[in-house]
Amino acid sequence: MILSPSYDVCIIGAGVAGSAMAAYLGKNGKKVVVIEKNLAEMDRILGELLQPGGVQMLRKMGIESSLENIDAQPVIGYGMFLDGKSFQIGYKAEKGLTGFGFRNGKFVQSLRSILFTLPNVTVIEAAANSFIEENGEIKGINFTDSADQPKQIRASLTIVSDGALSIFRPSLSKSEKKVTGYFLGLVLENCDLPYPNHGHVIMSGTSPVLLYPITSTGTRALIDFQGEQAPRMGEELKQHLLTKIGAIIPESAKPSYMNAVNAGKYKVFPNHRLPANPVLKKGAVLLGDSLNMRHPLTGAGMTAAFSDCYNLGNCLLEVKDWWNSMEIELAIKKFYDTKTKQTGSINILADALYGVMTSQDLKEACFSYLKQGGLKASEPVSILSTLSRDKHMLQRHFFAVAFHGAGNILRAKSGKAKLKRSYRMIRDAVNIISPLLMSEKPGLGMKSLLKIARKIF
Ligand SMILES: Cc1cc2nc3c(=O)[nH]c(=O)nc-3n(C[C@H](O)[C@H](O)[C@H](O)COP(=O)(O)OP(=O)(O)OC[C@H]3O[C@@H](n4cnc5c(N)ncnc54)[C@H](O)[C@@H]3O)c2cc1C
Repeated sequence: MILSPSYDVCIIGAGVAGSAMAAYLGKNGKKVVVIEKNLAEMDRILGELLQPGGVQMLRKMGIESSLENIDAQPVIGYGMFLDGKSFQIGYKAEKGLTGFGFRNGKFVQSLRSILFTLPNVTVIEAAANSFIEENGEIKGINFTDSADQPKQIRASLTIVSDGALSIFRPSLSKSEKKVTGYFLGLVLENCDLPYPNHGHVIMSGTSPVLLYPITSTGTRALIDFQGEQAPRMGEELKQHLLTKIGAIIPESAKPSYMNAVNAGKYKVFPNHRLPANPVLKKGAVLLGDSLNMRHPLTGAGMTAAFSDCYNLGNCLLEVKDWWNSMEIELAIKKFYDTKTKQTGSINILADALYGVMTSQDLKEACFSYLKQGGLKASEPVSILSTLSRDKHMLQRHFFAVAFHGAGNILRAKSGKAKLKRSYRMIRDAVNIISPLLMSEKPGLGMKSLLKIARKIF
C-alpha cells in the first residue's frame, strides 16, 4: 500500500542530523517526510557538547531556539590537564557565540519539536527497512507500520541519516566504519569543576578523559578505552575507574567522580572513524554519521553534521524542478564535492588529537605549545571551536607542536638519546597526520610535501 503519492524529500532518522535537515528544508517550503524508529527521548552519552561553530550553523538554519529550555550550559573554553599541571584557554568570543553542553536526548527532542510546528513536514514513527529501487534509481523507502503492514514512502530524494550504525550506508559509501576505541560515560552530580563552564581535557595517564557540564547539576565524564574490544563490566573495571582514572581526575571533581563510579551507572559506546567516501547514486544522499565519522575527543560530530545539513540544504534549495532527477543529482554532487572545505579541518583535528594522546612526548609538546598562549593557543582553539575551518592553519600548528616538542627535548636532555627521541616524535607526528590529510582531498602541493616528509621520517 502506498502511504502518500509523493514528497520532495524523505529523511531516514530524526536524530541530530535528520531533525535539523528536516527543519531547514521544511522551513524553506519543501514537502518533507521523516521516518524515525523511536520518537521517545533517548538517554545517550554522545552528542552533548556543541562547539560554537555548531551553534553558528543552527543560527544560520534558523533553529537556534532548539537550545532553549533544555537546561543547556554555556561552554566558554577549555581547561587542559597533564601530570598535575593545568591551564585554561577561552574560546575567541565571536558574534556572541559560545558552545553548549546538554543532554543529547533533550536536545534531539527539542529539534524534533520544531518539526511538529511545520505544516509541510510529516513525522512517522517506524523503522525504514530498505530502499525502493527502480532502474538503478532510489525512489523512496519501504517500512513496516505498527500494525505490521508493509508500507512505502515515495520521494524525489531520500536523505539517509540513520546514524553510526547505518544499515543503508553500504550501498552509498565506499568507506567502511572502523572502531577506534570506546568511551565510557558517567554523569557526575554537583561536580566542582576546576574551570566552571569549560570543557576539561585530562591528558595524563594512558587514555584521555573529558569532563564538561551538561545540566545545571550534572557533568559528563567520558573515559577513553583504546582498542576494538569494549571494556568488560565488572569489579576489575570498577577498580580501574576508582584507582587509575581516579588518580588523574582533578581534586575538586574527585568526590562526585568517585560517587558516580560507585553508583555504577556506566554506559559504553564505540568510537568510529569513517572518512567520507560516498557513491553518487540517483535519488539518495548520505548525511551525518552515516556519511562521515571522526573521534569524538573534540566534541565536533554534531557541528560537522550541522555544517553538512546547511551545505546540503543550500544545494537542494537551488533545485528548481523536483521531478528532474538529474538536477537533484547535480545538487548532491555539489554537496559531496564541497564537503571537505566545511568539515575537513574538523575531521583532521579530531583524529590527529586522538593520535597525539598515544604518545607521551607529543602530549607534553601539545600541552607546552598551547600553554604559551597568544596565537599559539587562540588559533588552534579557533579550529577546535570550529569557528575556523582553515586546514592550512591546522597543519601549520600541528607540525609546529611537533618541532616545539623536539626543541624542548633537545634543550632538556643530554646525550645521543635525545636526538633519537626528537626524531621519533616528529616521525610519529607525520605518521599520525598523513593518512588524515590524504582522506580530505589534499591539493597537489600538500600531497608532494607529505611524500617528502614520509621519505625523511
Ligand atoms: C561516545 C561519543 C560521544 C560523542 N560526543 C559528542 C559531543 O560531545 N559533541 C558532538 O558534537 N558530537 C559528539 N559525538 C558525535 C555525535 O553524537 C554524532 O556525530 C551525531 O549524533 C550524529 O548525528 P546523526 O543524526 O548522524 O546520528 P544520530 O543522532 O545517532 O541519529 C540517527 C537517528 O536515526 C534513527 N534510525 C536509525 N536507524 C533507523 C531506521 N532504520 N529507520 C528509522 N530511523 C532510524 C535513530 O533512532 C536515530 O534517531 C559523539 C559520538 C560518540 C560515539
